[in-house]
Amino acid sequence: MARIVVKFGGTSVGDTDRLENVARMVQLEVERGHQVAVVVSAMSGVTNQLVGYVDKIMPLYDAREYDVVVSTGEQVTIGLVALALQKRGVKARSFASWQLPIRTNEAYGRARILSIGTEEIEKAMAEGVVAVVPGFQGVSGEGRITTLGRGGSDTSAVALAAALKAERCDIYTDVDGVYTTDPRITDKARKLPMVTYEEMLEMASLGSKVLQTRSVELAMNHRVRVQVLASFRKLNGEISFDVPPGSDMPGTLVVDEEEIMAKGLEQSVVSGIAYDTNEAKVTVANVADRPGVAAALFGPLAASNINVDMIVQNVSSDGRATDITFTIPKTDLPRARAVLEERKAALGFTELHTDADVCKLSVIGVGMRSHAGVALTMFETLAKRGINIAVISTSEIKISVLIAAEYTELAVRALHTAYGLDAA
Ligand code: ASP
Ligand code: MG
Repeated sequence: MARIVVKFGGTSVGDTDRLENVARMVQLEVERGHQVAVVVSAMSGVTNQLVGYVDKIMPLYDAREYDVVVSTGEQVTIGLVALALQKRGVKARSFASWQLPIRTNEAYGRARILSIGTEEIEKAMAEGVVAVVPGFQGVSGEGRITTLGRGGSDTSAVALAAALKAERCDIYTDVDGVYTTDPRITDKARKLPMVTYEEMLEMASLGSKVLQTRSVELAMNHRVRVQVLASFRKLNGEISFDVPPGSDMPGTLVVDEEEIMAKGLEQSVVSGIAYDTNEAKVTVANVADRPGVAAALFGPLAASNINVDMIVQNVSSDGRATDITFTIPKTDLPRARAVLEERKAALGFTELHTDADVCKLSVIGVGMRSHAGVALTMFETLAKRGINIAVISTSEIKISVLIAAEYTELAVRALHTAYGLDAA
């Protein structure tokens, strides 16, 4: 008998049919003899609606009241899921976050979980009662409701699994696993049976929206085995609930590299191709080539909360002036322009070029640590298609390049084939 945490996202609890399906999936796990704790999101669209109400009344809101409002979506679903379980004869009850409690810090609107009291849930489990817990929220030291930031219920689920020392944390979402690349771009994308925490972390932060990045960090730090899977599928536009429960391991398991190796699974060098079209490229031309210039350039951007991602600085040909190119979130482009233009004289640059039609393309794989030539394959593949690379950045397990956005699909498909990822 295993103890598992199962989390259902907004689309999995999007209407009453789906809610009853969630109860069916949980019942299947209970019937297999597992101790189950359930974490749920708000019904899809509800949190957006609540945020909308707040924005309308007070766009520069008091974050404490914002949290009171936007946390309510999950309170509805915990009650409904508990009822749907009871209706099937499964003993269940809901717990609000303050009843456990799920303690967080005081950063309203983007709080971090500090601890989770497991006593109540363990008592329920011992009595064969399924505990249903709201994701996305907690209670601060001063006793007020907090929320964890959008998409935060993944993090709630992983944190609860860590606190309960659960065998696994199943995250039910609207995709049935983690793919080698976006299946909307190529029908040759394959579902990965397993992926390492490190790879999942890169994929999450490089544009794959499957799991909230923080939840992957938490899973990695606490060695929580996470499975990504679907609670329903779409067949010719129709919803079908004919899908296996998590214990059949139908999804993608996010685990330690050791576990994958122990299973004797052949790890390919590259496990996935990710892309992100939400960045913009900025080039500052002719800045002085002397110590302190990069700090003078990036300091004000950081002070304005603009997150710089990729950076290249050209070698200066005359030893006096150079160009610096970097990327930032597209939405921050107008602000970045303003911040830089304001300091044009101080920084001494002559021109500012920006380009929002770019794509950051990344190949990810822990196998890169031990294989040479991975970057070369990427550069050659792109060159063969006449795709120009503007910026390159690398880490131990990923290579990212910046290309023109119009080539995104072509490049993703070509790389998917070049790294041998195509489905047979
Ligand atoms: N309901 C919250 C949101 O929409 C939390 C979540 O779904 O993870 O952001
Ligand atoms: Mg989500």
